[in-house]
Amino acid sequence: MMRLDGQVALVTGASKGFGRSTALLFAQEGADVIINYRSSGEEAAKLVAEVERLGRRCVAVQADVSDEGQASRLVESAIAAFGRIDVLVNNAGVMEVKPFAEQTPAAWEAMIAVNIFGPLYVTRAVLPLMIERGRGSIINLASQLGHVGGENFAVYSGTKGFVLAYTKSLAREVGPHGIRVNAVCPGSIVTDMNLSIFPPDRQAQKAQELPLRHMGDPLDVAYAALYLAAEESKFMTGQCVDVNGGSTMA
Ligand code: NAP
Repeated sequence: MMRLDGQVALVTGASKGFGRSTALLFAQEGADVIINYRSSGEEAAKLVAEVERLGRRCVAVQADVSDEGQASRLVESAIAAFGRIDVLVNNAGVMEVKPFAEQTPAAWEAMIAVNIFGPLYVTRAVLPLMIERGRGSIINLASQLGHVGGENFAVYSGTKGFVLAYTKSLAREVGPHGIRVNAVCPGSIVTDMNLSIFPPDRQAQKAQELPLRHMGDPLDVAYAALYLAAEESKFMTGQCVDVNGGSTMA
């Protein structure tokens, strides 16, 4: 039996990185998936074909999740395609790495818009249907930086700290409706987002700083999301799963 047999999952920011791996893994585990992207249409189209080769249904929807109207149209398209959403993965995110004093308010706004308002708008649109059906799993991508902060990451870390506190509070609120809300906090995993901080010649050294002595893989995050989406985690809500090679422990 596949873990997500017959379920419908919406993954935001699924054209690459963690979102892409998560959408593929969910499809392998039996889910139909709606993949959202903002600008990488070609990558999204390739992913649709890959999911369909697995025998699952998939639609790609272009939408900027930081825009309320586009976020609600994304959810409407998902429901029009597959009738419901069992699992929402709020994964789309952006990051600028810079000393705080050199960062512009426009850059703060861009991170706050996508990393904070993005999950808020999409969740706001998804919740009524989940409440009506009395079930759902919402998974928010935070970051290890949301726990411990990071030099040159002040505002990005702040957005992820928001996601953590918000996850816990919303989990308390919607738990009585049968809806679970959890977070995944990745760290030390190379994607397009952080390749400039972890260029290939820096990765071996970074790995030596981790208890597990190797960097992670986007699939490591996808497996954490799969667990939080599936029935196996039915007694978990308001939690954060840290996937970071052991770099933070508290
Ligand atoms: P990534 O490879 O840069 O991919 C980001 C994805 O988000 C892309 O598919 C991008 O779509 C999409 N996106 C960005 N802005 C969007 C918007 N306004 N509306 C819709 N989609 C948007 O990033 P990643 O490393 O996989 O990160 C995924 C999540 O994990 C993010 O929330 C990030 O903050 C978090 N995270 C990452 C790390 C890490 O080590 N990489 C660590 C901790 C947390 P387009 O390309 O189509 O624009």
